[in-house]
Amino acid sequence: MHFRHVNEINLCLTEKCSLRCIYCYKKKARQDERLLPISFASQTFDLVAADSAHSQITITLHGGEPLFAGAGHMADICSLLEKKALKASKSLVFAMQTSLSDLTGEHINVLKKHRIQIGVSLDGPGEVNDRQRGRGQQVIANLKRLIREVPHLVSGVICVLTKHNFQDAIAFFQFLYDLEINKGNFIVCRDNGAAKCQDIALDLSELTAIRKEMVQYHLDTRFSRFQEARTVHMLHRFLNPTAAKETIWGRGCYSKFCGAGIRVIEVLPNGDIFPCGPAVSNRRYFLGSIHDLDHKKYLSVLASLHREKKTGGDVCLSCVAALICEFSCPAYDTYTPDYRKVLCEATRMMYSYLETIDRELYSLREEIFKSSC
Ligand code: SF4
Ligand code: SF4
Repeated sequence: MHFRHVNEINLCLTEKCSLRCIYCYKKKARQDERLLPISFASQTFDLVAADSAHSQITITLHGGEPLFAGAGHMADICSLLEKKALKASKSLVFAMQTSLSDLTGEHINVLKKHRIQIGVSLDGPGEVNDRQRGRGQQVIANLKRLIREVPHLVSGVICVLTKHNFQDAIAFFQFLYDLEINKGNFIVCRDNGAAKCQDIALDLSELTAIRKEMVQYHLDTRFSRFQEARTVHMLHRFLNPTAAKETIWGRGCYSKFCGAGIRVIEVLPNGDIFPCGPAVSNRRYFLGSIHDLDHKKYLSVLASLHREKKTGGDVCLSCVAALICEFSCPAYDTYTPDYRKVLCEATRMMYSYLETIDRELYSLREEIFKSSC
């Protein structure tokens, strides 16, 4: 009943993390050493598998830093879920979002064995990363090791843009491309209550400048080198209005309607369920526990979250930039509605800018459509 549309389970293996990212929304929790018990992972899978209409389910290992759960614990969870999936006639895909700060050879064996797709959190080449995350040299060394040993498993990079690193973003594209990583998701730093980001969040002119630079990079390289997901999707929607009509199985945070709590759920080491990772820091989005789920409460929390996702109302209805807009994110915008206004203005400015280069964009439409698949 709750999980009919769920095809992705984020299992927070542990909230522990050794990094001290300046925008972290788990500042208190990251010292918590508890692990997600194997029985909770199993119970979560049973709940979803019994209800989900999907034949394939993605299990994403999250944290904190999921590697801190240890290679053995990761392997036990993956092996058990594989057996369960077989019984439930579901196919499984494993993924992990990691900073790679504490990677070992044992981890790599588990990644290989269970074919875990690895998304790496990294904010720039070593020194740039260190301005806001730390241990950059170690992370880059571990990333190179992964690329050497399991290149097919490295799926991309998530980079958080702040005042400290946005000017290095295009050089970072090239750096990643040289490492043979050609996909990434560059997210604008936001404040979500637990992460106090007002001082490091990009202002309107910084935001529009970097977004334009990112577009220009893709045009200059004809989409044949590094591809930044949000830029590609924005251009795709600009050229193809029907792409904006996405379903809950479609896109993620950059859709008008995100899949939080519907297509994806996040489960914490204590069994608490939230709609997505960033929503964890806000207790109002607590959906229930794997031990105790109340259908009415679950639905009412989700309804309120998705009402907020669509905020803007009449203004958005008559806004031409709605075509490329990511709209609201309830996990963040509750705390800083003013920053939402900055993003809104930046989106309008981007739309006007794209209109000035629309011929060039149309000339590359095949490359853009192909990249957004
Ligand atoms: S609530 Fe925000 S962070 Fe969570 S899935 Fe929706 S848009 Fe993304
Ligand atoms: S740019 Fe602003 S007004 Fe336009 S659709 Fe997006 S949020 Fe709404």
